[in-house]
Amino acid sequence: MRERQCPVCLVEMKPQVHLGITIDVCPTCAGIWFDKDELLHITQLDPEALPQLDEMYRPVVHSYDPPWEKLCPVCHNTRLRQYNYLYTSNIELDECPECGGIWVENSELAKMPQVLKDVRAMDVPPEAEAQITLAQMEAESQQERGRLEFLTGLFRFLSTRFRFPFED
Ligand SMILES: [Zn+2]
Ligand SMILES: [Zn+2]
Repeated sequence: MRERQCPVCLVEMKPQVHLGITIDVCPTCAGIWFDKDELLHITQLDPEALPQLDEMYRPVVHSYDPPWEKLCPVCHNTRLRQYNYLYTSNIELDECPECGGIWVENSELAKMPQVLKDVRAMDVPPEAEAQITLAQMEAESQQERGRLEFLTGLFRFLSTRFRFPFED
């Protein structure tokens, strides 16, 4: 059984299949839960998928910062940890340090392709490289390494698909 609660609204999320990947969508706030690597896979399969998902769920807008700690819908008692998408963007996502799932709030989804484009247009921002190096040094735990793999995977994907000159 797949019963997953929205970390914000505490209502049950609805599983939705996109490009063969099952994601969980909150019917109230339209936040989306991606299991580990699902966000990356969807971006790889179709770069336009994120704005499409946003478009699809936008009518449901009831987003707010809950007064409680956001907990992982999969691991239940694990607190989600906030981080910045691609390290340098101002998009804040929440990640579960336990299972590597990612919580994306409604409006954040639409901003992500633009960030990807900006990153491409800038070539490699030196601070991105610096931050990745820094993250590499900080990546002591398994979870940190998992997140790093996600990010380097995404950068590698960008470099092949869009000739993004990123060396690892
Ligand atoms: Zn919700
Ligand atoms: Zn989790």
